Amino acid sequence: MAFEGLSEKLQGALRKMTGRGRLTEQAVKEGMREVRMALLEADVNYAVAKDFIRKVTERCVGADVLSSLTPSQQVIRIVNEEMTELMGSTNAKLNWSSSVPSIIMLCGLQGAGKTTMCAKLAGYLTKQGKKPMLAACDIYRPAAIKQLQVVGQQVNVPVFEKGTQDPVKTAKEAIEYARYYQRDVLIIDTAGRLHIDEELMDELLRIRDTVSPTEILLTVDAMTGQDAVNVAKAFDEKLNVTGVILTKLDGDTRGGAALSIKAVTGKPIKFSGIGEKLSDIEPFHPDRMASRILG
Ligand code: GDP
Repeated sequence: MAFEGLSEKLQGALRKMTGRGRLTEQAVKEGMREVRMALLEADVNYAVAKDFIRKVTERCVGADVLSSLTPSQQVIRIVNEEMTELMGSTNAKLNWSSSVPSIIMLCGLQGAGKTTMCAKLAGYLTKQGKKPMLAACDIYRPAAIKQLQVVGQQVNVPVFEKGTQDPVKTAKEAIEYARYYQRDVLIIDTAGRLHIDEELMDELLRIRDTVSPTEILLTVDAMTGQDAVNVAKAFDEKLNVTGVILTKLDGDTRGGAALSIKAVTGKPIKFSGIGEKLSDIEPFHPDRMASRILG
């Protein structure tokens, strides 16, 4: 994660604002204008940035800060708290089904890092004491099944595949197989396309309605900024996802997707991908992210 631009600008704006001892309402408003610019340059959604500034300004010009002898820490604390809130407050944990297996359906556009994330998640859950299994339901890209097998092997997790058989049927059989072999989590890799289209959504809906997943996680590429947010919105409207996985956070220089997705979709970011290695996965912690951004 390298939101240097955003961090630097935010820190600059806050320092300017808080470096002058006692704060005036005017100073807060000027400072917040700069913070807003920094957020927009970081590709934060316009409405999200506007709302964020409104909330922070309201709290900062409230009696607490202006009458305080140490306004600087207070302003920074408020920005930190509101930024944490913006990203969902606390780490959103995975839901588990009371019956085996819990089913995690991963979806997303091609190239977002979905197949890699299936294996990362499987490896992560193995370390947590789970016994995951992967199912290859991305049947259109010839290399996708093979890719899942390769990464599955690297994390030592079995991969269920039925070649180009109908993905809904494959997903259903995978559940039986997981039950039989007592794998308690089934992670389904679904098809991705370059763009959102009806056919893709219909297939994802058919899989969803057949397997009733415990989690529907959408993988989006953090490096695509507002596009990632729009993709998340579109997928969520169709599929009603349970959470988002933000991949390639390591290559994201701006931070707009991380800061906007929860506010725009209402769905939390549950994990992030922070590199190409299969161990490069982290649960997403809004508070830690806010602290990193604010330095
Ligand atoms: P899919 O088409 O969505 O299944 O995407 P893939 O899993 O094939 O990933 C596409 C590319 O993104 C691959 O080259 C991955 O190595 C790379 N990738 C995936 N996740 C990350 C990540 O968190 N960080 C970085 N830097 N690269 C990633």
